[in-house]
Amino acid sequence: MRHSARQKQPLLAGAAVSLESRMPKVRVDKELCISCGTCWVLAPQVFEEDPETMKTRIKEPYRKVDNEKESIGEIPPELANDAKSAADACPASAITVE
Ligand code: SF4
Repeated sequence: MRHSARQKQPLLAGAAVSLESRMPKVRVDKELCISCGTCWVLAPQVFEEDPETMKTRIKEPYRKVDNEKESIGEIPPELANDAKSAADACPASAITVE
């Protein structure tokens, strides 16, 4: 029994590292976005309206890239389901979650 308990410790430690390294990536194609607001409602912790362009951008602190064409970010795993729901509901198919 002790032998098998020892074997599990490295697996658990590896799982923790793996979760941290798998931050889902979210991208908004601003050229496709029609500013309908659906994603702002379904995933308010991930998406927001850029007040200057009226297009969607990834919220801080998750935003990594933001320019005229796209907004890209990395989000915590616990927000992935909300982001995927927004991607599925986006009428312009402007959101991808990987
Ligand atoms: S749901 Fe799609 S089209 Fe609507 S605001 Fe969000 S990214 Fe733009």
